[in-house]
Amino acid sequence: MGVEIVRVPVLDDNYVWLMHDPESGETVAVDPAVAAPVLAAAQARGWTISQIWNTHWHADHIGGNADIKAATGCTITGPAAEAAKIPTLDRKVAEGDVVRIGAIVATVIEVPAHTAGHIAYHLPSQGVAFVGDTLFAMGCGRLFEGTAGQMYANMARLAALPDDTLVYCAHEYTQGNGRYALVAEPDNEAIVARMRQVNAARAAGEATVPTTIGLERATNPFMRAGSVEELAARRAAKDVFRG
Ligand SMILES: [Zn+2]
Repeated sequence: MGVEIVRVPVLDDNYVWLMHDPESGETVAVDPAVAAPVLAAAQARGWTISQIWNTHWHADHIGGNADIKAATGCTITGPAAEAAKIPTLDRKVAEGDVVRIGAIVATVIEVPAHTAGHIAYHLPSQGVAFVGDTLFAMGCGRLFEGTAGQMYANMARLAALPDDTLVYCAHEYTQGNGRYALVAEPDNEAIVARMRQVNAARAAGEATVPTTIGLERATNPFMRAGSVEELAARRAAKDVFRG
């Protein structure tokens, strides 16, 4: 039996992910921006949060840590390189480290650039990756603490995961990203087709995440950039894009 993953929309456009393993009864909250709606979503399903996994130190990813821990006694795992900025961490992890939900293994992948110590969690047996603010549907995170070269390497790394890997990113940015993607690659029919679906989903109030590695390989102008220079130019253009 595999994990069950539930989306908890919070703040303006954040997604907190609740992952439950029915075998062990464990529940992980990934990047809890806030506590109350995440605790409520778990409680509504009869789940108790046993762990928090953080991808990076930004407040809209760790803001619920302390209150969820106070309510549940959960353990909190996050990037060793950002431990000074995440005082609630119990376990500090880095490239190649393994974290578990029950018997299910997640491998830590370092993907610095959005923040200097940003990590992703990959669960190969589940075909699932939690990527925080590194990879978005048709987008990538802003380069607040790193370089285009680092983000280019991150994109290559994530692109090498199996095409059917479900990618759980932390924001609903797809429509805005897609508008830029259409400008970056105007002849890419896959982007045109995807945007039809995204626009319809958003008009109906539906989420567009998770995405998949295969879909991103076909439609994401940052994952598709042919060089560091092209990624840098696209990131700079997107930073000021008003679609
Ligand atoms: Zn962030």
